[in-house]
Order: sequence, then structure tokens, then C-alpha cells
Amino acid sequence: MADPALPTPPPKVEIYDTTLRDGSQQVGLDLTVTDKLRVAAVLDGLGVDVIEGGWPGSNPKDAEFFERAKSLEFKNAQLAAFGATRPPRRAVEDDANLAALLAAETPIVTLVGKAWTLHVDEALRTTREENLAMVAESVAFIRAAGRRVVFDAEHFFDGYRADRGYALAVLAAAAEAGADTLALCDTNGGTLPDDVAAIVAELAGDQAAWPHAQVGVHFHNDASCAVANSVVAVAAGGRHVQGAANGYGERCGNADLFSVIASLELKRGHELLPAGRLTALASTARTIADVANLPFDARQPYVGPSAFATKAGLHASAIARRPDAYSHIAPAAVGNQAQVLVSELAGRSNVLAKAAQLGLDLTTDPALAGRVLEQVKAAEHRGYAFEAADASFELLVRRSAGILATWFELEGYRVVIERGAAQDRSEAIVRLQLGTDRVVAVGEGVGPVDALDQALRRGLVGVYPALERIRLADYKVRILDGRDATRAVTRVVLTSADDDGEWTTVGVSEDIVTASWEALADGVAYGLLRAGAAALGGTELDLRSA
Ligand SMILES: [Zn+2]
Repeated sequence: MADPALPTPPPKVEIYDTTLRDGSQQVGLDLTVTDKLRVAAVLDGLGVDVIEGGWPGSNPKDAEFFERAKSLEFKNAQLAAFGATRPPRRAVEDDANLAALLAAETPIVTLVGKAWTLHVDEALRTTREENLAMVAESVAFIRAAGRRVVFDAEHFFDGYRADRGYALAVLAAAAEAGADTLALCDTNGGTLPDDVAAIVAELAGDQAAWPHAQVGVHFHNDASCAVANSVVAVAAGGRHVQGAANGYGERCGNADLFSVIASLELKRGHELLPAGRLTALASTARTIADVANLPFDARQPYVGPSAFATKAGLHASAIARRPDAYSHIAPAAVGNQAQVLVSELAGRSNVLAKAAQLGLDLTTDPALAGRVLEQVKAAEHRGYAFEAADASFELLVRRSAGILATWFELEGYRVVIERGAAQDRSEAIVRLQLGTDRVVAVGEGVGPVDALDQALRRGLVGVYPALERIRLADYKVRILDGRDATRAVTRVVLTSADDDGEWTTVGVSEDIVTASWEALADGVAYGLLRAGAAALGGTELDLRSA
């Protein structure tokens, strides 16, 4: 008998991922079979319980996925195949979709059935009795083949509001036929948390109605409540939560499984993932975004790079004293990290903290931090943004401190842009001062920036061979203040890379070529600093702390 003095541990909740089926309905998300196998492997590595691989009856790609997945060995997860109940007036033995579900040879089959009378009447155009028979017979057919059945009650919450008795009858039909999980689906995504809490509590508490089945949930985010609904459903007795990586899904997405997992583990004490795996959450989220070829949302709760980024100077000084005072969890718990942003709101401590993150110790010169801050503020006022441009920030600090080497000085450049019928071509002539030497170099490229980049490299590479390993990785242009189109300011953010990593620089001007040159020249200078290239002029003191 359990000791009443001991608190009961929060119950096990099954984590059911539907990224590969429902999540891949998102506009712009197109996964190949190989991508799907990779995502499945990553999710298994994280430790989810169930991975829904797709709908084998609906398309050849999903059928191929299940064929190839037969040779996968999962450490944690079980695979589920998804499909609909049999159509009206057809025997289960004659239904090709149900046959395809069995042919997928997964331990779990998820069957979706109608729970809303409106859909039975208008979408299926059949009788309500026939829909109940479709649910019961389809579940029983899959069960008889020895598979575990999860029943997805489509439009359950709308169905419950429209005709509670019928919606419950659908669940009962599935449970009696052998479904062990009754997943209540908020297919239109408009249900709010208080309704979810009341309905799930009622159903999860009614074990007499389905003694062998657990209640699960599946939420969409159309009212911004998918994660909240999932969390309150578990508090109300739900024992199975469906969701998708990074909240992928059609319209506004599915419940973001990563936020659900983090909230339930860190704030409600549930053990959902294998011990120690929660720290893989941030890297898992990013990897799946990479495989999906979608931009990773910096503001994504728990896992986004900005999830624990602090901008205001007031906060930065407090964070230095009490790191726990301004974040709701320890970022490391989900494998993320705190980030201090340099911005025009920044105070002195922010600059110090950012400089320390870059390995620069400014505390030896109390006046320097203030001077850097003044320059950051002045530059941001003109349109610079150093938040993501660490390399430009470090160069600014070094320039302010008078400790930046000079590898080259610009005497001038000229760019010719040629518009041709077949293709556009640009040519740049760059005149540089290298110590006492003067260099003139010509570059050709597909646009003026490319041509300048080529000319700059050609002029420098003989003196600085390290440049051979430095390449342009990304180039972004943003027009600031478009109200006065001719006077609009252009901000160029440029990412450079060598074999060891990437760095980002920024340039601002009313002229796009000038802004690009600034970002290019900073990118090259920072690359030479990284490479430890000996300078031809200026002083190079090492401010970096060990
Ligand atoms: Zn859905």
C-alpha cells in the first residue's frame, strides 16, 4: 500500500509526435522521404514515445517512408501509421486504406473518425449510426490484426459543444472496439483552455465509460492556445499529448511539442523524456528546422536563440548579480543559453557583459566601457544594429580602445554596373594602402557587391594568405525608414566564414554599395584578426582574457 505521507509522483504522459503527418501540412514544409527518416531519428534521439510517420494510404511518399522505416531501429519511440476509418457502406475487408495501414507494419495504428454531427451529416453525408459502425468496425479490424489503436476523435471539442451525447457515443464506440487511447482533437484549433480543462476532466474521470482507454489530446494553435490547452489537459487527467516539432502544422500550426514537454517536465514534474534528454531540446528543435529548411524562429519559447536574450541595460546589471531573476527557467535545462544583446537601451554593464562574452576584459579601463557605449549608441542612432553583428561590435570596441591593427586602408573604389541582355555584370576597382605600399585591384562579379568582394580579396591575398580560407556565407539587405524613399538608409548584414566558424558584420549608409563595403571590409578585417594575421600598421594588443 502506498504511504499516504509520500506525494504521488506526477503520472506518465505519453508524448506523441505528429510532425511527419500533421506537421508537414504546413505551407512551405516539404520533406523528402530521406528528410522524414532523419526527423524520425532525431525525435527518437530526443526520446518521444510515438512518432506518427504519415498516412500510408494517402500518398506513395508516406508508403515509401514506412517501407524504409522497417529497417530503422529506434531506441525510444514506436512508429504509428495514420489513416481514416472505413468509408460509409464499405466492408473493412474491402478498404484499401485500412489494408495500407496494416501493410505499414507499425506497432501502432492511429485511426481518425468523425465526432461532430455536422461533419457526419455534411462531409460524410451518411447516417450517425453508420458513422458509429465505421468507427467500431475499423478499430476492431486493426485490433484483430494485433496492433495497438489510438483513436483520433476529429473535431471533438466542436462536436461536444454541438451534440455532447453523440460525441461521447463516438468515443465509446472506439473504446469498446479496443482503442486504448481516445485522442480528443481540436481540429479547428479555436477551443480555449478553461473549456478544455472542464471537458477533459469530465472524460478522464469517467473511467466507467472506457475502463481500458486513456484520454489524449491533439490541439491546433488557431487561438494561440495549443500549448496552454495541452498543459491544462494533462492537469485535468489527459495522459497522451500529440503535437509537432516547433509547432509546425497547417494554418497556425499544431501544439509545439517542445514547449509542451519543457512546461510539463520543468513546471509540473512529469517525466516525459528519458532521464537527461531534456537538455537536447534546443539542438533537436534547430536540427529539425534545418532538415525542414525553414528559418528557425529566434523567439520560439524555451529553444529559440532569443528565448533568454536580454536587451535592456537595467536587466543586464541585475542578471550579472542574479542570473535567475530575469528568466523563467535555467536556459541550460533545455540546452539553451542566456544571451546579452548590445543595443541602444544598453547600459554600461551590458557592454561589459557582451565584451566579456567575446573574451574582452574592459574592466581594466573604466573609461573605456563608457566610451564604447557612447559609440554604440551613436552608431545605432544612424541605423547600425550590433545585436547579431558580434564581429562589428568587437571591432568597434577595439577601435575605441585604440588597439585594432590596421591590415589595409581604403583609398577609394569605383564600381561599374553593366546591364546586358543576356546577363548583368559588374566590375570594381579598389585602391588600397597596405602599410607603405599602394595596391590597385580589379574584380568582376554578378553584382557590385560581389565585384567589390572579388577586388578586395585580389588586392589582399598576396599579403594575407589567410584570406584564402575566408568566404562570404550570407548577405542580407534591409531598407530602414522607407518613408522617404530617396533618403532611406540601407543596412547590410554580412556573414563570413572560415573553417572554424562564422562571424557577422554590419554596414549602414544611404548608398547600398557603401553599406556593403563597410560590412565587407569589417568582415575581412575580423577574419584576419581571427587568423592572427600580422598587421602592416597600427598596434595589436591582446585584450582577450585567457
Ligand atoms: Zn490535426
